[in-house]
Amino acid sequence: MNVEQKLSVDKFAVDEGNPHIVLHPEKFDEATLKALTVICPAGLYTRDESGRMAFEVAGCLECGTCRVVAAHIPGALEWNYPRASFGVQFRYG
Ligand code: SF4
Repeated sequence: MNVEQKLSVDKFAVDEGNPHIVLHPEKFDEATLKALTVICPAGLYTRDESGRMAFEVAGCLECGTCRVVAAHIPGALEWNYPRASFGVQFRYG
């Protein structure tokens, strides 16, 4: 079973309107933006053709890696665990 197949069996309960990660892209430097597109194991940080950052919270594995990567920029990334009954549900099958 490859990584994509393993991730596909997890379930996500998205707390619509109350994301557990909120970005303030205008505060990021280029190196950190680049790092985010590479380090997220779920591939949730992407950039469009013009280089603009896009982020999709659905599918977050709650690993906290992005929080660590952006920690040196105060206020750039707000990260909290999802409220009870929301977030990822790992299924090891
Ligand atoms: S917590 Fe992990 S999975 Fe979720 S967005 Fe950040 S790096 Fe990606």
